[in-house]
Amino acid sequence: MVQKILLTFLVTVVSLLHSQAQNMKFHTNKVIAHRGAWKAAPHPQNSLASLQQAIDMGCEGSEFDVWMTADGVLVANHDADHEGMMIEEATYAELLQKPLPNGEKLPTAEEYIKKGMTQHGTKLIFEIKPSQISKDRGQELATKSVELVKKLKSEKWIDYITFDYDIGLKVLELDPEANVAYLTGDKTPQELKDDGFFGFDYNIRTVKENPQWIEAAQKLGLTVNAWTVNEEEDMRWLLEKKVDFITTDEPEKLFSLIK
Ligand code: MG
Repeated sequence: MVQKILLTFLVTVVSLLHSQAQNMKFHTNKVIAHRGAWKAAPHPQNSLASLQQAIDMGCEGSEFDVWMTADGVLVANHDADHEGMMIEEATYAELLQKPLPNGEKLPTAEEYIKKGMTQHGTKLIFEIKPSQISKDRGQELATKSVELVKKLKSEKWIDYITFDYDIGLKVLELDPEANVAYLTGDKTPQELKDDGFFGFDYNIRTVKENPQWIEAAQKLGLTVNAWTVNEEEDMRWLLEKKVDFITTDEPEKLFSLIK
């Protein structure tokens, strides 16, 4: 009898886990919250609270920026400095002395990803920041980023973006399956395709100057994203062009146009 109950219990657990794996589907609404959803709420940019807000809103993705501290810790922050301390020149312990305006501590990339992995709707758009100290340091950050994503088994959640083409190439060398989009705007879709990139993620001005790149990229199987799109007119234009993603500080506005 006890064995039978145990067996039934085990079968239930296994089937629940299986259905959970099957349900692992990310949203497909094109909305990428830029540095989390921080503007309307408001929350500090790149805070765990801004990520939670993007998740609660049901964004397809939430973007965050990653730097490496002097002692090799990957942290989520947009600017090169945190409260006046240069991230690349400070230790993580030094940076922790100043909390974010909402009282959160400066999140590590690991904490940020772990929070994202508590759900399956919103992807994490991991921007690897070029180092201001050296190209080598940028390569080190790229390597540590891929190692971290692999260690956490978070590959399914992560798309990478970067302004440094060599950082993008490094990520692809370490994980050829990774989705890596390029931000700077000086590569044609064909060049990106040839180098194994996932797509382009260019400034809205660059995309408007080269509208033919949208179709060219999509014909090559690349994705198209634009930043940072806060004007309704630009959002409408991109939606008409059927781009894959739109990165915005105002996800509420974009949702109102999509729904
Ligand atoms: Mg960014």
